[in-house]
Amino acid sequence: MAESDLVGELETFLAGHQPELVEFRRDLHAHPEIGYAEHRTTRRIALRLQAAGLRPAVLPKGTGLLCDIGGSGDDSPAVALRADIDALPIVDEKNVPYRSLNAGACHACGHDVHTSILLGTGLFLARAAAAGALPGKVRLIFQPAEEVPGGALDVLAAGGISSVDRIFALHCDPRLEVGKIGTRIGPITAACDRVKVQLSGPGGHTARPHLTADLVFALGKVITELPAALSRRIDPRSALSLVWGQVSAGSASNAIPDSGVVEGTLRCLDDSSWHAAPEMLKDVVESVASAYGVTADLTYERSVPPAVNEAVSTGMIAAAADRVLGPPAITPAPQSLGGEDFAWYLESIPGSLFRLGTREPGSVEEFDIHQPMFDVDERCIAVGVKVMAATALTAIGGKHEAESMIADASPAERVGSVHVVRQSVGGVTLAGPLLGGYSPVA
Ligand SMILES: [Zn+2]
Ligand SMILES: [Zn+2]
Repeated sequence: MAESDLVGELETFLAGHQPELVEFRRDLHAHPEIGYAEHRTTRRIALRLQAAGLRPAVLPKGTGLLCDIGGSGDDSPAVALRADIDALPIVDEKNVPYRSLNAGACHACGHDVHTSILLGTGLFLARAAAAGALPGKVRLIFQPAEEVPGGALDVLAAGGISSVDRIFALHCDPRLEVGKIGTRIGPITAACDRVKVQLSGPGGHTARPHLTADLVFALGKVITELPAALSRRIDPRSALSLVWGQVSAGSASNAIPDSGVVEGTLRCLDDSSWHAAPEMLKDVVESVASAYGVTADLTYERSVPPAVNEAVSTGMIAAAADRVLGPPAITPAPQSLGGEDFAWYLESIPGSLFRLGTREPGSVEEFDIHQPMFDVDERCIAVGVKVMAATALTAIGGKHEAESMIADASPAERVGSVHVVRQSVGGVTLAGPLLGGYSPVA
């Protein structure tokens, strides 16, 4: 599809469909469903896709679905676009007509927006396919249970990205104005694992610590030594941080307890450090415990990996946004130490997640995600559809087309006007955003 055609086609499509997509989002917002309970949400998406002549397939656990558009042969390029569909188990405190009707559930992470954008993108691409203007296959992934997390693993188990070359997603960003998007090459969200260290030893009188194991002292050493040792044994560029959130031991000032526990979260932006962290932690816990004669039990609960945006895919998003929104819309996205289960897909295939601005320009309200007052400027839905659709078309148009688009945005041409500059990542030079910008979100 030629550049001018794509922009015009998207404008025409959105002129007809934007009210429906806003209405769809409001309906989801009023009926939020938490992870693995998204039955109504799944049904609504499936019915709308079927009405457009598509054939959605619900995932084995009964919520979430996959839907393919276009693609005649096995060798045609295939990309996946993913939206998460679940809500959070918190109370909606907004006073809006579309306030949650489901007690204790709220779309406070914007997944209702993500879902509506992917639906709109699917409807647009289905029209393109019917007109013979889709040179490959696009798979829509409406994923359940991102917040649990783990819905991404269900999609992977169901073969959701088999024969897919590349995957894209977006996430609402209430700190970025509507009309803008944020891109980043490399880690954009962090791994977030739970760590629990339980110590035990013979308790006794505080007058005679030498006859016991001074468990509180040992626990104090665990609390200070683990983060310190990790900071020296892991590459500091991986931004690994271990922060304790809960500690307990003992019940009297003159008695050494026989057990104690400390719990915290380990966050990390680098994939290889994330893989190395549990073994390293185990070593340090064992050496501290043996030095003080206590027994240590380490529980390491894996959650999501860091989401590491691949360079070419990120360049495709930037090139697509450049095409449909114009260069001033693209800003650099900061890294966040929040977790995002889109990272599971990126462990298998290249892809990229971008931030979608949802903040009303000039608004004095400071919304954040995961808060009961979270809401968006709904014009972000049209922006999201434009960028997602253009990104899919760029990606199935082939890597070379994307790279030539990126090459067109030469640094010299952009100086003084914009953001697309060259970055070197792993020896490959590609377009990417300038550093700096707004503050990170989870
Ligand atoms: Zn969330
Ligand atoms: Zn989210």
